Amino acid sequence: MSYCTISVDVDSFDSLLKFHGLNKDRFGDYDPVYKKAVPRFIELFDEFGIKATFFVVGEDCLRLPNRTIIRNIVSRGHEIANHSLNHKFAFSMLPREIKMKDIVESTRIIGDASGYMPVGFRAPGYDVDEVTIDLLDKMGYLYDSSLYKFIIYPLIRRASYLRSKQILRSQMLKNLQKEIKETIVSPMHIYRPMAGKFWRKGEDRNIFEVPVSIMPFLGFPFNTTFLFLFGPKFFDLGFWLTRKYNMNLNYNFHSTDMISSDCDKIFLKHPGLNIDLLTKQSLFRRILKEITKYYKCLTLESFCQIESQSKKVSGGEGTSLDR
Ligand SMILES: [Zn+2]
Repeated sequence: MSYCTISVDVDSFDSLLKFHGLNKDRFGDYDPVYKKAVPRFIELFDEFGIKATFFVVGEDCLRLPNRTIIRNIVSRGHEIANHSLNHKFAFSMLPREIKMKDIVESTRIIGDASGYMPVGFRAPGYDVDEVTIDLLDKMGYLYDSSLYKFIIYPLIRRASYLRSKQILRSQMLKNLQKEIKETIVSPMHIYRPMAGKFWRKGEDRNIFEVPVSIMPFLGFPFNTTFLFLFGPKFFDLGFWLTRKYNMNLNYNFHSTDMISSDCDKIFLKHPGLNIDLLTKQSLFRRILKEITKYYKCLTLESFCQIESQSKKVSGGEGTSLDR
């Protein structure tokens, strides 16, 4: 049986505006992420009977109307996981104490809003590092799902941070070589990260890392951002390769995928925002139809629990779940 974990990075509207160097004040209380995008995703997943994981930002959970929506997500059987306190950029470059404060605080707020403690984490911008994994493991998190094995992504990420003035020019090359090396050598499948070297497989930690899927062999991502750039055939290629290599799929969407300039009047140069909503929804239906035809979809939490059980049964050797 092959599994597919589908997740939505519910990037806050604030972080989107910050990324584009815009002031939030001109939008007032308007929050298209929770008012529009999240309900649209719930409806879409319901249509296919999919239980997904929603990575939410802690500070978004403090707003009363959002808390109702979060409870609604939970009541439909989806998982709420942690996408940091306020989606700080360059997360891996933050000092350990700031990271700890961020994770502790966001865990508490998200737990309070959803009614249960989150067990999964995804770093903003997939910007994960050894310290973050160490903190999550010590806090009892079941999994992290931030590893994104696209070799040039560390460079793309830094360039976007620099463009949006989130880092200094002098920080552009800091740890870059190391990050690229880690990206290359890290596993493609779910694994327990080695203590001290999170990008390597080891058995001395309890936490799992579930890398975001990329195309086996070719190494390109085929999530929605790339779909908007290269069209649906790009998904077909990635999906075909994933099936050919008998791999599980960890596929992710972003909150902005369900927002469109045409009906939501947000005019930003952001991937997919210029495509009208109906076109995007039909594209997503096409993808989910294919996925549900061949894969059993479940939340990341359930997937990691199954993996954990199978490791116990087989004495730590794992099973063929991820092959
Ligand atoms: Zn994000």
